[in-house]
Amino acid sequence: MPFTANRQFKAEPRMLVGARDMHYTSEDGRTILDGTAGLWCVNAGHGRSTITEAVRAQLERMDFGPTFQMGHPGPFELAERLVKHTPDGINKVFFTNSGSESVDSALKIALAYHRAKGQGERTRLIGREKGYHGVGFGGISVGGLVNNRRMFGTLLNGVDHLRHTLLPENAFTQGIPEQGAELADDLERMIALHGADTIAAVIVEPVAGSAGVILPPVGYLQRLREITRRHGILLIFDEVITGFGRVGEPFAANRFGVTPDMITAAKGLTNGAVPMGAVFVADFIHDAFMNGPDSAIELFHGYTYSGHPVAAAAGLATLDLYEREGLFQRALELEERWAEALHSLSDLPHIKDIRNIGLVGAVEFEPRETVGARGYDVFHHCFWQGNTLVRCTGDTIALSPPLIVSESQIDEIIGALKHAIKTVN
Ligand code: PMP
Repeated sequence: MPFTANRQFKAEPRMLVGARDMHYTSEDGRTILDGTAGLWCVNAGHGRSTITEAVRAQLERMDFGPTFQMGHPGPFELAERLVKHTPDGINKVFFTNSGSESVDSALKIALAYHRAKGQGERTRLIGREKGYHGVGFGGISVGGLVNNRRMFGTLLNGVDHLRHTLLPENAFTQGIPEQGAELADDLERMIALHGADTIAAVIVEPVAGSAGVILPPVGYLQRLREITRRHGILLIFDEVITGFGRVGEPFAANRFGVTPDMITAAKGLTNGAVPMGAVFVADFIHDAFMNGPDSAIELFHGYTYSGHPVAAAAGLATLDLYEREGLFQRALELEERWAEALHSLSDLPHIKDIRNIGLVGAVEFEPRETVGARGYDVFHHCFWQGNTLVRCTGDTIALSPPLIVSESQIDEIIGALKHAIKTVN
């Protein structure tokens, strides 16, 4: 099983067998409140019938069509609709099947873009400590979580990492923290060391998720944007979790008012129903390929299932829901309420930090002797006693409920967590 202590799981499996709206059903027949939107993906809630219908109809119309030298209307229509929500100047889409594929595609697009512009010496890639960018070799190379890297050798050459922005002086900030914008200046030091003309791209999560929810300090992303632009370096936002309304706008780029050159996405794109990812690409990058030297095949890259017709149908039905139900705005509407509920936990024992933005939350504990044990115990208690699904990453509980969550369900999630924290030692 992925990212799972398999031996432990075998002893005490947690099995889900059904899902509807805000709830899962467990194998032992309990109703479990979903505090994590599955894995940050089921933003419109579970079992949405219009998605089911769209998938069924597409399967009947055409189950599969190749996208190598062939096309079909779904992905084109989806791309046209999606880019109405991306920041100005980002109007092109390359479809993948996952966040990991989106990241590796974006890194390859960055390298190929510079080549197409006659700057093939720009090959260095810059990620960030504690970054998570999926599990492809590109993604783990620019990623900065040691457990994801340490078993897999030397990874890509020519990769540097900015420092992360999880600062103790920002602990218990509600929303965006004040301290740390200057950490973006790490990039200036890398430029001074290597020369800007060797650097292809910088990739960061605007809000880091897998590391336990790390927020960008006020001005940090703006500063990264300013430096990358000044030096001709592409800026990639990995929005696999922040995309599709999670932080109160379609993308974190909209929320922070910073336009990167590419955005990677997946998860909420199809409400989790069918695997699909996307790389949103600035027009100028697209144009460099279209006007570049090789008109036979501009970008020699792709997947059998790029722009899969069934995934595209699910994506279109999902976008209909987001638009019709105002779900891209909902996290912003609930943000204060959510923050209040979350930060009400701050006086409980062992709490090290609480962080929030949109409908994302994190409660970090002081570790016991075994790092991660307290986080796991709280997660375990929430599932078995609290009938609530939360996520533990180390000693942090991360929360990201579906965007259809009600105010009373917010209280339920926080109540279950509170009980678990009080019970677990
Ligand atoms: N990037 C980020 C920021 C993610 O959070 C994730 C998944 N949690 C990925 C990439 C990888 O996505 P996938 O698991 O779909 O490959």
